[in-house]
Amino acid sequence: MIVLSIILWPLCGCLYAQQKYYITADRVFDGETIHQGWAVVVENDKITAVGPKDKIKNPPGAIKINKPNSTLIPGLIEGHSHLFLCPYNITDWDTQVLKESDAYRTARATVHAKNTLLAGFTTARDLGTEGAGYSDVGLKRAISEGIIPGPRLLVAGRAIVATGSYGPKGYDNDMNIMLGAEPADGPDLIRVVRDQIGKGADVVKVYADYRWGLQNESRPTFSLEELTTVVETAKSSGRPTVAHAGTKEGMRRAILAGVETIEHGDDLDLEIGKLMKDHNVVYIPTLAAVEKIAEYRGWVKGKTPDPERVTLKKKSFQAALQSGVILGMGGDVGVFAHGENVLEMELMVEYGMNPLDVLKAATSVNSKAFHIDKLVGFIRGGLKADLVIVTGDPSVTISDLRKVQWVMKDGIVYRNEM
Ligand SMILES: [Zn+2]
Repeated sequence: MIVLSIILWPLCGCLYAQQKYYITADRVFDGETIHQGWAVVVENDKITAVGPKDKIKNPPGAIKINKPNSTLIPGLIEGHSHLFLCPYNITDWDTQVLKESDAYRTARATVHAKNTLLAGFTTARDLGTEGAGYSDVGLKRAISEGIIPGPRLLVAGRAIVATGSYGPKGYDNDMNIMLGAEPADGPDLIRVVRDQIGKGADVVKVYADYRWGLQNESRPTFSLEELTTVVETAKSSGRPTVAHAGTKEGMRRAILAGVETIEHGDDLDLEIGKLMKDHNVVYIPTLAAVEKIAEYRGWVKGKTPDPERVTLKKKSFQAALQSGVILGMGGDVGVFAHGENVLEMELMVEYGMNPLDVLKAATSVNSKAFHIDKLVGFIRGGLKADLVIVTGDPSVTISDLRKVQWVMKDGIVYRNEM
């Protein structure tokens, strides 16, 4: 049973946490290490004390939380979501972009946001509305004001593509088809980056390559100079640039231009991995999206042979592990169901990563990569009280993350399984 426990709803519609909690669990994962016999104190919206139970006092009036066979972890951070998309096996991408109004997609997005939070993801970096304009900026505001439940958001707004590269495609050229992102080129990129920032983008997302080759294969889009222009313009305002990139040349240009994360990286090899490592670029692999799209096209995992794209993904993930590039976590959720975010973490383990490292990727690593480590991603005094309790030990069995018992964000309990 899911219980939405609301502490206080003042007339402004804002949510305030005004409570103390004394939380103990069999294991506490603090974002980096597992500890036995620890306690965590929450006061209002912050973590105020963390450490061995015998050293951490239970403050008077605190609500005691202790679930059997449990692990307490920091709220998970989804690194690559599209809250304005629903799975392509329900509605294909073209239809969502072209035939669904922003209001309809926002209504869906509110449900997606709730499902994400209740799955233990208290923060999400949403990388483009895919044709829903700046609806993500409004959604973020509604969540942060407590009007609807959802993860704290970092949003990209419309995202930027090179003219001619992006979809929807294949319609009569007499029609002015709206695109899934904003096209811009050359020096005009300066205006577009600034415009997106002005409209509320927390991160600038560019597509460094896309499927616009002669055989529909991925090919680089922007030149190195164009990408550098984007990065420098965004950086002036204190914002990072992140790149969709799958091809080696697309990745190479994006890395040299100074992007902070590479999304997808399907052709990543040891050479590109090393370049990323040398430039401190974080890799967000999006394994789940690739597997899910293959399944929508008829692949039956474990029964029919791996399609080429899945084989390639496994190879690039191995290369990422071997080259020592910093691995964050992001599944491109939206391509598959919101609330199923853990699937990406399960695949990271299946493809060869240690479960504890996968837990770090979705907490401390993502928080540092997204510049929010003074806020979330660790269980540490002074940080926001974003906490999740699961049954079992996800540092051994990653799927235990699906056994969510309790979710707190900003000191407010959103899920409490009785
Ligand atoms: Zn995406």
